Amino acid sequence: MTTKSNDSKLDVIPTKIWKCKNSECKAWIREEFTTGEQLCPICRGPMHRSMRHLPAVKNKVPRQPRQPKNDAF
Ligand SMILES: [Zn+2]
Repeated sequence: MTTKSNDSKLDVIPTKIWKCKNSECKAWIREEFTTGEQLCPICRGPMHRSMRHLPAVKNKVPRQPRQPKNDAF
């Protein structure tokens, strides 16, 4: 059995990324995870903006923490 039930269709959308300028380095990072001047996390080299088709990230519904009820004991 598989642990996850993957959807048969996977939406890919053009996503802004930063990728390493070093052609031998495959590092890239989603722009949303960058902080301005992004350095390569692997080789510490400069990165530049690019685009990449990535599966759409499904926004998780923020779970509202349940307020503990007072137990009427
Ligand atoms: Zn790199």
